[in-house]
Amino acid sequence: MSPDRREKTLRGIGVSHGIAIGPAFLVQLERPRVPEWKIAAADVKAEQSRFQSAVMSAQTELGELKEQSAHLPETAAEEIGLLLDAHLAMLSGSRLVRGVLKRIETEGINAEAAIEHVMQELTDQFRALKDKYIAARIDDVEAVSNRLIRILMNLPYIALDSVPPGGIVLAKEISPADTALMDPKRFAGIATVHGGAAGHTAVMARSLGIPAVLSVDGAMLDSGGHGGTAIVDGVAGVLILNPSEETLAEYRARQRALQNARDDLDKIIHLPAEMADGTAVSLRANLELPRDAEAIVQSGADGIGLFRTEFLFMNRSTLPDEEEQYESMAAVVRAMAGRSVTFRTLDIGGDKIARAMGAWIAEATNPALGLRAIRLSLKRPELLTEQFRAMLRAAAHGPVRILLPMVTTAEEVEQAAQLLRRCHADLKAEGKAVPEALPPLGTMIEIPAAALSADSLAAVSDFFALGTNDLVQYTVAIDRGNDQVAALYNPLNPAVLRLIEFTLEAARRAGIPVSICGEMGADPLYTPLLLGLGLREFSVGSAALPRIKQRIRSLRLADAEAHARAVMDQYDPAQIKAIVEQFGA
Ligand code: PEP
Ligand code: MG
Repeated sequence: MSPDRREKTLRGIGVSHGIAIGPAFLVQLERPRVPEWKIAAADVKAEQSRFQSAVMSAQTELGELKEQSAHLPETAAEEIGLLLDAHLAMLSGSRLVRGVLKRIETEGINAEAAIEHVMQELTDQFRALKDKYIAARIDDVEAVSNRLIRILMNLPYIALDSVPPGGIVLAKEISPADTALMDPKRFAGIATVHGGAAGHTAVMARSLGIPAVLSVDGAMLDSGGHGGTAIVDGVAGVLILNPSEETLAEYRARQRALQNARDDLDKIIHLPAEMADGTAVSLRANLELPRDAEAIVQSGADGIGLFRTEFLFMNRSTLPDEEEQYESMAAVVRAMAGRSVTFRTLDIGGDKIARAMGAWIAEATNPALGLRAIRLSLKRPELLTEQFRAMLRAAAHGPVRILLPMVTTAEEVEQAAQLLRRCHADLKAEGKAVPEALPPLGTMIEIPAAALSADSLAAVSDFFALGTNDLVQYTVAIDRGNDQVAALYNPLNPAVLRLIEFTLEAARRAGIPVSICGEMGADPLYTPLLLGLGLREFSVGSAALPRIKQRIRSLRLADAEAHARAVMDQYDPAQIKAIVEQFGA
């Protein structure tokens, strides 16, 4: 059958911005059926050693991958390093390895079949636990098992080598480890059937700057893709196979426009984030990994508006002590050279898990409503004490603010403030270098109850930070990580907007500043509305920073205020969406 060369447009999720045009290359990633045969009792030992040598080869392969990934950009190298470490750990004395050795013996079957059985058993057990963290481990078990099966069956590694330079990789699925091997100079774009916006593959593609569209409906099974031209539009989330001359011309123009827009953004990096009429706005960056501080300085941020300290506690089996936390925090404060750093105390719980604290947080039906963030910190004051001491000592190196996550009542802030004062006095008595005055202590407004009692919280807080990721989740009762209800997650719901307005109003009356550090602040579509409502401080991911700065600089306050009034007069979400979209990004 000759390939179908008609133009075809397939929709998916755009996870990495940019437009790629190039020859389409269909990568076959599916593993063939695993054969099963009987092993005589006398040959069991030999079969077990065949398996052990495959384990050793897999360790070597992973070691090589790790070496290659060290040359990737920092966040990508870190991300993939953690993943490869998890895979390596699964190859030594794990349930997988022990289970396979045992099955070869008890069932008298060949190694590759034994791996498949154990993989099935483990993933079934993991799935039954219905725990998000463990569910993520299923991918790891499958990836390691498939690697071992491929080695045992002598199958070649996936044929990324055969992709022509500048090619677009079409695949059912690409593992993060494979993505890490993709040199952005060589691979123009990626489109896959599986994968979601928050998965590791998406994160890798973004860090490498390779345009990608995931979750494309059945596209790759189509014989028409391979060998023709493809366009990956990572902005709109579209894959076009065999584009017509007209479509090609249109996308080449869009590609040029995107490049020009990027060049324009580079030009404003060192300009202030002020509105067209001179109204001053502070634009800071969110930080997860301390090593990103340098990139944040380069992006032209006015400081760090949210340092999520929980990342210092994740992907490790022991807790970092005061000294280790101090070192990381002080390094970031020093790197920011006089620009302020807002440290948020630990926000573990919900979907964020630290292995070393596993036993502290009981299994819960609704973890997002359970022991999380400030609730956990107040229950474990020794933990909060170490964090406060590290933050206060880091404050000796430059301006610091301290922020409390998931606050519900003023009493929680008062308890934390009391502990902070005690830590400050203790450190001074010990002769440790700390600033004379206490750093400002702020409250995250991310629970509807907190927004509705913003006046009482303002009385005990030096500043507010709007955590819209959680505020939306709790207001409209939509799990922020659940893709089944993702379409209903709407920051423009009038209930959310009223809570934001109420918070800004209470803060204005109390004379304290408010920033936004949820993702809503990083979408230029919402910038005029937020400015119009009175917000003057933004903290966004460093990748979104130039675009938000550009939007702020393009707006006049009077227009933003009129726009906000028009929005707040409405109570129909569809109408609000139409007004916001009409105003534009
Ligand atoms: C938020 O909820 O908006 C926020 C910034 O905190 P996190 O995303 O870490 O929960
Ligand atoms: Mg939050």
